[in-house]
Amino acid sequence: RTRVTEETFDSLEPRPPVVSVMGHVDHGKTTLLDALRTSKAKVAGTEAAGITQKIGAFSVEVKDSSVTFFDTPGHAAFKSMRHATSRLTDIVVVVIAADDGVKSQTVEVFDLLKEFPNLAPVVAVTKIDQYDVDTEKAVDRISRQLLEHSILTEGYGGEVPIVPVSAVTREGFDDLLETLLLQAEVLELRADNKAAAEGLVVDSAIVKGQGGVADVLVTWGKLKPKDVVVAGTEYGKVRGLISSGGKRMKEAGAAEPVRIVGMKGLPKMGDEVVVVASESEARAVIAQRIKQQEVKELEKQAEKL
Ligand code: GDP
Repeated sequence: RTRVTEETFDSLEPRPPVVSVMGHVDHGKTTLLDALRTSKAKVAGTEAAGITQKIGAFSVEVKDSSVTFFDTPGHAAFKSMRHATSRLTDIVVVVIAADDGVKSQTVEVFDLLKEFPNLAPVVAVTKIDQYDVDTEKAVDRISRQLLEHSILTEGYGGEVPIVPVSAVTREGFDDLLETLLLQAEVLELRADNKAAAEGLVVDSAIVKGQGGVADVLVTWGKLKPKDVVVAGTEYGKVRGLISSGGKRMKEAGAAEPVRIVGMKGLPKMGDEVVVVASESEARAVIAQRIKQQEVKELEKQAEKL
């Protein structure tokens, strides 16, 4: 991200936004994500049979662009891995139920937004299909509550978008997706599609029939089959790239979630992924990373003394 400067801007291409959904328990995060995953807007790479596999994130195609969503509500992940998650996310969709308003865990999300100013908020007022909900009144009431927490929405002195949606009827989905794309433009999210790939690990596992896999969010460049990747202190040679739709991909670009098949070890969430020239270089890079970790560890111990 830091490499997107005035000088480099024109040579780069727009990339999709990466979105985390957060909010109070029972306000509809999981339902919203499930509905988006199976939305009419096509989920990238989905087979006709619709065999999707959870690879930590999925992308939804919107017009000639797309939006990438983390599979699970971001709250828990954020609590345990604040910095890793903040580096993976561009936009936080703050889910607030129309009939319930701002609650304690909503306020926790506001605190996160203050702690990580690189995260741009979009408020989604959910459950507007419920019979006793007057959408306009709910948006007004919630906007006023947000004001008290210094979150200024459109029409209430600020620019934070607020979009009413229903995960049941899908009302407001187009609006939400378009708002997210608009925010991506405002944030000037760009990446170099010609460079060697870089990314961050979302998850890793041993999978039956696939062996060692790392689910990765590409952050820069293009990842291709046969690339040798270093992820944290593990490496592998890309034998296959699989999309969240379970389809083989020829390549994966910035903000695209992808499963790398061919890992020789299992990296951790948030580990940095880079492409190197050969497996021997991979081993050298890893040796260096381990040395750096040891030095850091020693410094930490020295500080305690
Ligand atoms: P989470 O804890 O934030 O992930 O909330 P869930 O997605 O589990 O939703 C909590 C409850 O609200 C479930 O019973 C959902 O069926 C219901 N719910 C979620 N979204 C909507 C919606 O848009 N409309 C209605 N009527 N119910 C919803």
